[in-house]
Amino acid sequence: MTNKPNILLIYTGGTIGMVKDYKTNALKAFDFSQIVDKIPELQQLNCHIESISFDEPMDSSNMNTAYYINIVNIIEENYLKFDGFVILTGSDTMSYISSAISFMLKNLKKPIIFTGSQLPIGDLRTDAKENLITSIQIAADQENGRPTIAEVCLYFEYKLYRANRTTKISAEQFEAFASMNYPPLAESGVHLSFNKHLIHQPKNTYNELIVRKNLVDDIVILKLFPGIKKEVVKSILNIPNLKGVVLETYGSGNAPTTKSFITLLKDAIQKGIKIVNVTQCVGGSVIQGHYETSVELNTIGVINGKDITTEAAVAKLMHLLNKNISDFEFKELFQKSMRGEITSK
Ligand code: ASP
Repeated sequence: MTNKPNILLIYTGGTIGMVKDYKTNALKAFDFSQIVDKIPELQQLNCHIESISFDEPMDSSNMNTAYYINIVNIIEENYLKFDGFVILTGSDTMSYISSAISFMLKNLKKPIIFTGSQLPIGDLRTDAKENLITSIQIAADQENGRPTIAEVCLYFEYKLYRANRTTKISAEQFEAFASMNYPPLAESGVHLSFNKHLIHQPKNTYNELIVRKNLVDDIVILKLFPGIKKEVVKSILNIPNLKGVVLETYGSGNAPTTKSFITLLKDAIQKGIKIVNVTQCVGGSVIQGHYETSVELNTIGVINGKDITTEAAVAKLMHLLNKNISDFEFKELFQKSMRGEITSK
């Protein structure tokens, strides 16, 4: 270890560390040690870098909560030894993974930067190098001996976002992510410029990191579409052991007003299932009660997801469902910002 910031790279898999299998033409993961060989420029950064890899690097589509726990275990074990963490995962579910990790870490005072790439590191036109190098620079950035960033972020194509505000918006553009309801925390051009007023400032420097590993994954995303059949809604809400639903509604939180639909939701809520209203729109907020089509949702106890993303709503449900709290407290907590994921007004 040196006086320079110590950064831990955690490689879980994804395109960034992939090569082409020329027999099948498919992309497959390769040994992580090669990733550092592939970018000799890393040695020029003003920080000390160590790396650790999942035993079997994986496509992010195969991630589930057990892997989220693997990631937080690595962070927890190395938290005191390192000043910042860069986590490489596939971009496909990166917003889900990073949102979940943001809830799993309380009193975080160090940067955790998720990144990946659209093209493998070995590709001539790869976006991996810039994403990786700048993510490391951000993780190593300090002011008066304190890290500039003390939250879970996602860096992609010149922008640093609060992770739990992001959504993957493109399967092929280098600009693969957007954060529609919260501006970028930093932008990388000739200079790396931080939007300081938007960055989370930890309140109490003495609070220790608390790691929450219990996630409840008995949940579902129910996306409405015109003509959705009541049998479909009914069978989803009657999944055995179901605990939570992210209800993707239209516009500012609107849903059918038919008695049968409202009754199905009401019965589910009475059985103890938590239903959160999140908009299908990529930007903007649910305003429950704004239109007649969402008044009933308020009355029957649907939780107002406001401007939370579906990805963050899934993560927050998984996190909060583990808590032994009343329905009222659950709703209050969900509707308030815990990690900057929701605009609570
Ligand atoms: N399928 C890949 C994954 O999510 C895509 C990527 O790495 O961006 O693991």
